[in-house]
Amino acid sequence: MKSVINFCKKLLNSTNDKVAHDFSQGPIVIPRDQHPVSRQLISNNALKVLYRLNKGGFDAYLVGGGVRDILLGLAPKDFDIVTNATPEQIKGLFRNCRLIGRRFRLAHIVFGREVIEVATFRGHHDDNSGNNQKISKQSDQGMLLRDNIYGTIDEDAERRDFTINALYYSTKDFNVYDFAGGVHDIEQGVIRLIGDPETRYREDPVRMLRAIRFATKLDMTISEETHAPIKPLASLLSNIPAARMFEEFLKLFVSGKAVANYHMLREYDLFEHFFPSVERALCANDNFSLDESEQIAQFILQALENTDIRIANEQRVTPAFLFAAILWFPLQKRIASIKAASDILPQDAFFQAYHELMSEQQQSVAIPKRFQLVIKDIWILQERFEKREPKRAYKTLEHPKFRAGYDFLLLRAEFADDSVKELAKWWTDFQDAPQATQSQMLKTTGRSAKPRRKMRRKRRPNSKSTSES
Ligand code: ATP
Ligand code: MG
Repeated sequence: MKSVINFCKKLLNSTNDKVAHDFSQGPIVIPRDQHPVSRQLISNNALKVLYRLNKGGFDAYLVGGGVRDILLGLAPKDFDIVTNATPEQIKGLFRNCRLIGRRFRLAHIVFGREVIEVATFRGHHDDNSGNNQKISKQSDQGMLLRDNIYGTIDEDAERRDFTINALYYSTKDFNVYDFAGGVHDIEQGVIRLIGDPETRYREDPVRMLRAIRFATKLDMTISEETHAPIKPLASLLSNIPAARMFEEFLKLFVSGKAVANYHMLREYDLFEHFFPSVERALCANDNFSLDESEQIAQFILQALENTDIRIANEQRVTPAFLFAAILWFPLQKRIASIKAASDILPQDAFFQAYHELMSEQQQSVAIPKRFQLVIKDIWILQERFEKREPKRAYKTLEHPKFRAGYDFLLLRAEFADDSVKELAKWWTDFQDAPQATQSQMLKTTGRSAKPRRKMRRKRRPNSKSTSES
């Protein structure tokens, strides 16, 4: 990282290492021979968009993570572009353009699987006059509900979140423009909000999550004045729509830094806004004992660590697995208390607990239906793994979510008693065994289950089942 930053050294020396926070002085301009941002490091599609905008007579810059990550010697996750063209003008230039967003109107230029996001320079919004009500709107807590006032590049830089994100690269002159001392902060490894931190968090509380995400992703420190207001303002996150919280969940937990993000989110009282029921369990509320809460923390950490390792190895991960793990113990507690309060059938207790837990969970993080179904399958499979009569065992093996369910069983086995360990070992052996061995295995395990099935059949005419399964 240092060698890359050396490109900008000359410039830093010339500014006496002072942070250029004074926007009225304009940006620090870093010419091409003093920075490492080159077109080879930028996606071809992003370059196409930049060139087409320039050709159309507009200013256009690569901005944010695309510039920041290249300066840090990292490969950018995506390439964001900003321009003085309005969304409609952008649409006029690209056939493959979709306009999205209400709070924040943006253009998406779609190239197969790659989407280049193009934003129009944001301007200052009107605080008191109310003249800009239609394009800019603030809640009573100071949260920006709409922010569609367009402005100049200087204004746009001031509206960005962190100094390290207010860096602009132009394909017209190949300069990098540093408006807020971002290069200095990159060199120092500091995450620093632009402007007054409390106001900026009130405008958009998700910036608290972003501060943490960038600190762990880039291995940087959050500056004192930027981290101090987070804990006191953490409750503002409850105003964020659950759908946006799901997007942030993915960025925090399915990005290779889940363990580090989990620790920081808990430290800053932010985790409870993702998983209220889990936070209660971790604090030994909701009838969880201290021992249980310790075990839950270990279990969640193990799931997060496995996810980080899988991502580092470029293996697939599904957020459903993580949700299943994080919510597993609150689910178990709810099942137990439902069973204790009524003589409900076990599978009915599961479905009731599932619905109660998920409807509470959806208020914080809107988990899309397709993931909810997988979470449910993973949990149902845990019960099915115990049924080892021949027909059932083969059916379980063919279940489309067998792999996820089995991985979950392995995770549970690390923390549970010997019976779950034995079960996990049995399924590990069974799934890869030759047919003859499988039959042999089923002979021993299947036998014990049969009498139970017979007894249930006899009782069935008298019992009115309301099971969903
Ligand atoms: P990465 O894509 O690696 O997660 P990024 O910095 O590019 O990081 P994006 O979410 O892609 O983050 O946003 C692009 C840029 O838009 C940011 O760098 C920042 O300048 C600006 N931005 C994004 N979200 C906010 C926000 N909530 N408030 C102010 N500026 C923001
Ligand atoms: Mg980005």
